[in-house]
Amino acid sequence: MSSLFANKVVAVTGAGSGIGRAISLGLARQGATVHLADRNAEGLTETADLIGAEDGKATITELDVSSENELAGWIEQIGSTSGRLDAAFNNAGITGPAKRIEDYPLEEFRRVIAVNLQSVFLGMKYQIPLMKRGGAGSIVNTASVAALTGPGGMSAYAASKHGVQGLTRVVAMENAAHGIRVNAIAPGWTETPMVAANSKQNPGFAALAQNAIPAKRGGTPEEIAAAAIWLASDAASYVTGHMLTVDGGMTIGGFEL
Ligand code: NAP
Repeated sequence: MSSLFANKVVAVTGAGSGIGRAISLGLARQGATVHLADRNAEGLTETADLIGAEDGKATITELDVSSENELAGWIEQIGSTSGRLDAAFNNAGITGPAKRIEDYPLEEFRRVIAVNLQSVFLGMKYQIPLMKRGGAGSIVNTASVAALTGPGGMSAYAASKHGVQGLTRVVAMENAAHGIRVNAIAPGWTETPMVAANSKQNPGFAALAQNAIPAKRGGTPEEIAAAAIWLASDAASYVTGHMLTVDGGMTIGGFEL
């Protein structure tokens, strides 16, 4: 096993489930001290226990990623306990309701933007100064194939994820000369609790998974995590401002002969 993250300090949001849990476990296996954050206390403890069972190192913090106070406090705490931050994964997110634009409640739109986009803005706002103090760092934000497409019923989600790509590019530009890389991943259909819940409320989206993915299957959280961890690692040292699609070919847009 490679140990690209030996003695590195990393932070992961949405670490209590799905892709964030797989990223956290993968990083711990490569030797990182992983600071886990999520609003789901039970999920957080489960992830920390899985890491502990393999003799990995993790801390847990229950927070709401849309809260500036809570996110800032968490990053400050990482600074004071670990002294630096080598990599951060701004990954927590929600889908919001599946409704056409004319029926989409403004309150729900605002909530999805706050959890999926404001959180990435706030995460980077506080992670960048700590990384600068250490002279290097790497950030990976979780976008989605909805940053490239227009899934019906998901206006807030698609807007938030297009926004994540924009933020990623801007912060990559601002920090390329400071040794800090900023990238995004765009997962396609990934078999996590979020997707199970979304399939229930949006059958059109569920049908797409069966019919429209060239690979003819959903991805595993581990397959998405592998791409995110690579982007954050020194193996990707000249990659910045990039959004890496990991979708089994879902967004190729071609056709089979
Ligand atoms: P997941 O299994 O639902 O995990 C997301 C975690 O984030 C959950 O533990 C959730 O807590 C937590 N969370 C939600 N809102 C939060 C908040 N305000 N503050 C702190 N934590 C919060 O979902 P996932 O599929 O792993 O998704 C992770 C990321 O990948 C998201 O950004 C999602 O948009 C993106 N993504 C997923 C897919 C997919 O197919 N799964 C595809 C493209 C992109 P609760 O359990 O309490 O909700």
